[in-house]
Amino acid sequence: MDHADSQPLRLIGYWAGSTAPDWPDPKNFVDATWDRLERETIADYLRCGFIHRAFGGLSTCRFCGRENGALELSDGVWLWPDGLAHYVDDHDVRLPAEFVDHALEYLEKLGDADRDVAWWRAQTSPASGKPR
Ligand SMILES: [Zn+2]
Repeated sequence: MDHADSQPLRLIGYWAGSTAPDWPDPKNFVDATWDRLERETIADYLRCGFIHRAFGGLSTCRFCGRENGALELSDGVWLWPDGLAHYVDDHDVRLPAEFVDHALEYLEKLGDADRDVAWWRAQTSPASGKPR
């Protein structure tokens, strides 16, 4: 296990509410001038997280009041509620550059990565490669 694996997942996208008044207010993050392509890319990224856990109740959107998800998603580094994409898509919420840069760098690395086909081609059965 390397150092990165021992880091806690960094929370983003949880907003102030009646039970948590001192959390960030999404209204302070509204930026309608955010580059459209970058915004759509980030919203897609948010929708593609792994399911980390499911909550007992639904979250409601702080802007429009709609039911807005009950899952917590992660990319292995960050952790966010699955409704966060809705804030980005429909309410012009711009996430901090630290997260945006992380997501864009990850996607760029993925897009530029070479393919290693040798390992998979050598698999002839689930038991090949390593003795069990
Ligand atoms: Zn909404």
